[in-house]
Amino acid sequence: ACVAFMLIVGRRVIPAMLHWVAQTGSRELFSLSVLAIALGVAFGAAMLFGVSFALGAFFAGMMLNESPLSQRAAEESLPLRDAFAVLFFVSVGMLFNPHILLTAPLELAATLVIILIGKSVAAFLIVRAFGHPNRTALTISASLAQIGEFSFILIGLGISLELLPRQGQDLVLAGAILSILLNPLLFKLILGRGAEPPGEGTDAEAKTSSDLRPTGLHNHTILVGYGRVGSMVGAGLKRAGEPFLVIEDRKLPAAAARADGAEIISGNAADPRVLKAANLAGARRLFVAIPQSFEAGQVVSQAVACNPDIRVVARAHSDAEVAHLEKCGASNTIMGEREIARGMLDIAFERRHA
Ligand code: AMP
Repeated sequence: ACVAFMLIVGRRVIPAMLHWVAQTGSRELFSLSVLAIALGVAFGAAMLFGVSFALGAFFAGMMLNESPLSQRAAEESLPLRDAFAVLFFVSVGMLFNPHILLTAPLELAATLVIILIGKSVAAFLIVRAFGHPNRTALTISASLAQIGEFSFILIGLGISLELLPRQGQDLVLAGAILSILLNPLLFKLILGRGAEPPGEGTDAEAKTSSDLRPTGLHNHTILVGYGRVGSMVGAGLKRAGEPFLVIEDRKLPAAAARADGAEIISGNAADPRVLKAANLAGARRLFVAIPQSFEAGQVVSQAVACNPDIRVVARAHSDAEVAHLEKCGASNTIMGEREIARGMLDIAFERRHA
């Protein structure tokens, strides 16, 4: 019943609520709503359906993930995420029973072998079976050679349902801590020197560092994002001989922009220091070519507040996003799906060649 309720009601109501809150334009309110929904769903599921609080929280995360507006906001803009991550590790540290290192060293070694080698071998074989190259399979298996929070939820359930002795929990906790400690070493060992464990989204994010060098450009165009959309806009600007600058927060697209000869600022465009370094006040146009409309909205609001004459063109994927971005001050909003439909019709009526 819990799963059905979440899938049918939660999937519609929660994203709709978030869209509604996002339209108020207040980032604080949005962050608070994400948090209130997460805790509310977890608590509600535990109270109404008697599932564990942890499982409820897991569902809440899934529901939040449904909303295109919330994904990045929930992942990145909540400073609480770091606070929770710290609390999580503190609580794991407090649960850890160091005696297990002396009382059951062999069992602990076996647990570690299962986590480090068993899991990695399984991952390697699965990735190879799908036809990916050895290096991809090795990267995936090295990334999976550790265990984290989900195993604690399972082990907690195992203990409460009396399926597992207490020592099992100690072994899993010790195994988790040791495997997390050993993971970076294993990574280096498997993939060679200089390899970094990947962050979320495989290529680790570029630093929003303090070494932001201000641009010398003036009366220029600022292009935020250099992915599928931004790189095409950049190519067009280059062809037209327009001076422009790219803001990009991931390493690979930033390197691609640099290789294409663009001036680039690495960092999150929602960060006011990044926008300042791009000389927002002296810019003529701003193209916001990122898919996360909550962040895009923030970039747009900051831009029009600092430079009321700037022409802002933003990217959107739904009518709610168009309304949100226009409310933030975007002069034009291009809705991806609408343009796809137009392109299809153009081809159908031969106004454009496929
Ligand atoms: P695509 O959806 O393929 O056009 O890619 C969007 C690009 O925008 C990706 O390369 C992201 O790294 C980049 N991006 C997303 N959010 C931000 C942000 N807040 N600041 C800078 N770049 C971003």
